[in-house]
Amino acid sequence: MTVLLFHEDAYRTSFIATVTATDGNRVALDQTAFYAEAGGQNADQGFFVWNDERIPVTDVQKKNGQVWHTVDGLVPRVGDYVHGEVDWSLRYRHMQRHSGEHLLAQAFLRVNPEFKVQAVSMRSEECTLDLAGNPTEEDARKAEEALMRVVYRNLPFHTVWVTEAELRQYPLRRPPQVQGRIRLVCVMDRMERTGYWEVSACGGTHVNRTGEVGSVFITKLEKVAGGLTRVFFVTGHEAYRLLTHTYRESRTLATSFSTSLEKLPERVESLKTENLDKARKLNAAYEALSESLLQGKNGVQVVPLPDADMLKPFSKVAAAQTDLLCIAHTPDGRVVVTSSTKASAKEVLAEILKNAQGKGGGKADLAQGSAPSDRLEQAIHLWREGANP
Ligand SMILES: [Zn+2]
Repeated sequence: MTVLLFHEDAYRTSFIATVTATDGNRVALDQTAFYAEAGGQNADQGFFVWNDERIPVTDVQKKNGQVWHTVDGLVPRVGDYVHGEVDWSLRYRHMQRHSGEHLLAQAFLRVNPEFKVQAVSMRSEECTLDLAGNPTEEDARKAEEALMRVVYRNLPFHTVWVTEAELRQYPLRRPPQVQGRIRLVCVMDRMERTGYWEVSACGGTHVNRTGEVGSVFITKLEKVAGGLTRVFFVTGHEAYRLLTHTYRESRTLATSFSTSLEKLPERVESLKTENLDKARKLNAAYEALSESLLQGKNGVQVVPLPDADMLKPFSKVAAAQTDLLCIAHTPDGRVVVTSSTKASAKEVLAEILKNAQGKGGGKADLAQGSAPSDRLEQAIHLWREGANP
């Protein structure tokens, strides 16, 4: 059994230990400050200093009470002393995520006792809680606000080991998944009748006080399998980075539209309306242009169009002509065949695309496809020669 130093002090990053076993590039120690991947929290990384070498520790896993450190380099021998150094910046981000997760889970439960946690992941900057009970956006805002009040009050996190018999003295958020001696992580609060704001069984690493979580920001809610709602959130320094980055990007965007950040949504709406209006006008102009291009035309016509946006209005006009088999193509290799003759547009297109090595399909009156543009023009030319020898 490896002694887990982070259980007593999550802020300890440096330690000396004896190698008790090795297995390939994996090393077991008598004690460690490295957290092994568990409970949705990533493994720590860092270094061993041994024999004047600084050996990267790239992964940490726990098996049968033994913690295995994967090293990238020289492997120390059994009985050797190593000096371990945990990557503090990474660990602290994990601690902020994990502590934020405790607070958020409790905050949701206080909004509605049905919002029970079913699964947790803190493996990337955007963490997730899967909740039962269908929380809404409004519930999420309430939970976020309740949580932030606890962050501002800077309540202490406290860890205690208890027996199963002692468990009932604590207002546990959910039943523990382990037996025997159980480690409880509590957020103390004198304003609460029980003396606790949050209690749950956990073997992870947490900050000393709620203020260190900094902030928790819910990015989105999503329905997932099993009737659960996945709550995406960011915490601590990662929340600060995301929010400041997003704010600056949005402000730059607003400036590029010559407006303020507050008026950006209004500006985007009016641009959308303007854009739609222009698209309608362009479509009408293309239809008028198509009418004049096809006026009095019948038989077989091949029409090169300048722009792919013109294909749709042109096809509409072409399909409405009488006794016309029309092949329209654009410089980017798109082709539409319309037919109001006995010839099938679908078959004509198929023949052209076969030679042009393109793809497409349709019906007897209208068919469309695409092919490499140089081949397409050649194939249309070939087909035309075959049709009108
Ligand atoms: Zn925890």
